[in-house]
Amino acid sequence: MKTVTTLGELRAARAELPEPVGLVPTMGYLHPGHVSLARRARAECAGVVATIFVNPTQFGPGEDLENYPRDLPRDLELLAEAGVDLVWTPTPEVMYPPGFQTWVTVEAVTQPLEGVRRPGHFRGVTTVVAKLFNGVQPQRAYFGQKDAQQVVVIQRMARDLDMPVEIVVCPTVREPDGLAMSSRNSYLDAAQREAAAVLYRALTAARDAFAAGERDAAQLRQEMNDVLDTEPLARVDYVSCADPETLQEMETVADRALLSMAVFVGKARLIDNIIVGG
Ligand code: AMP
Repeated sequence: MKTVTTLGELRAARAELPEPVGLVPTMGYLHPGHVSLARRARAECAGVVATIFVNPTQFGPGEDLENYPRDLPRDLELLAEAGVDLVWTPTPEVMYPPGFQTWVTVEAVTQPLEGVRRPGHFRGVTTVVAKLFNGVQPQRAYFGQKDAQQVVVIQRMARDLDMPVEIVVCPTVREPDGLAMSSRNSYLDAAQREAAAVLYRALTAARDAFAAGERDAAQLRQEMNDVLDTEPLARVDYVSCADPETLQEMETVADRALLSMAVFVGKARLIDNIIVGG
């Protein structure tokens, strides 16, 4: 496995890879969720590139950019084990050199959900992902369903800008108690870690209600809120029952729905989701 930093090094190493090339973008501090993306890319592509970049432009003021966990040596071990060929670890200066002033913005689907609470977040995500695509020129790119809105936004960007890349969405990898794996789980102490399982319990309660025939979106949101309210260490940011394509809140679920939430546990802001129906 080769590791590169500059764009020149990346381009030279990328040119040597067999195609199709699969890209796995990450912010590092890798866990089995990230590794599942790398393994899927390894199974489906002749060349596999992973990137590790804590992208400053997708963090808002007061968010956790400075404290975001990092462990490059361990990340490189995990990626090598997963069979990755090439790792690109650009610095902020490589990504955003002096004079940088060009941004990619996706409109409607970036507005609700995370967009309301994290203004500017998706502009940072789409801009950096566009740059990762331009640098690596992958035929496929692997993203986790864990970040459901990010997937919708990136699919929209790729379609709208005619990017010649297939977006592959991989299932959320969970801890045994259902907590979605996340680099941010490292912020939790033991009591908070236990409390954090409430997110998945809330999602499964709503999924059970849906399976039992509930189609009223307000009622499904209520199911989630009722479970979240039982956990004193959890503070709800939002719960949502939205159209999986437009991300607009629904009144009645006709077919499929994206059930999602953001919940503070201690200083960690945790997000999770499941899709029901269809
Ligand atoms: P991050 O490093 O948090 O930016 O995540 C990098 C990629 O890994 C994104 O496509 C995430 O959606 C994906 N990812 C993060 N956590 C998980 C998980 N628990 N299961 C599956 N994919 C994940």
